[in-house]
Amino acid sequence: MTEQMRPGRQCAVCTSGARADIEAAYLEGESIRAISARGNFARSSLRRHMAMHLVIDASTARDVPLNAGSIALRVLAVAERAREVAEEALDAGDRTQTFRAGDAELRALAVLASLGVKHETALQELDAYRTVTHAVIRAARRNPEVGEYVARQLDAVDREAFAADLRSQIQETTKGLTS
Ligand SMILES: [Zn+2]
Repeated sequence: MTEQMRPGRQCAVCTSGARADIEAAYLEGESIRAISARGNFARSSLRRHMAMHLVIDASTARDVPLNAGSIALRVLAVAERAREVAEEALDAGDRTQTFRAGDAELRALAVLASLGVKHETALQELDAYRTVTHAVIRAARRNPEVGEYVARQLDAVDREAFAADLRSQIQETTKGLTS
């Protein structure tokens, strides 16, 4: 294990012994909210762990019964979250955390490349996914009711996991604004 991949000593998920199971569930598409609802970890701990400490390599891709494209979407989300963590750390003047989060983002992007996400169509789909997701999250942050409305539409087409993820993003934002 390299220095940069060493799990966080303060991280509840890393030190729990349940790490592998939790990461597999996450990569299989289970939402942060659903994993948190099992009762052992706060959503913020899980989100931070996935952004900062999730280790994905070729063997992970073999072990998780999904195609590379599905995993790629999850990894892309990890990269996006790591970038958010980096931006928050930069705002807070925390250079160490900024560096670590930037490093986590780079690792996720490297994983995307190793998963073979270089086909132009796949990249265009990823770009569309990222663009739409960012637009929805921006809209939801400005107006949580918009986010809730989109989440209800996702529920209506049996995409409860996406809806739950979106709702947890809104909740975190709301919490951040009021605290
Ligand atoms: Zn961790």
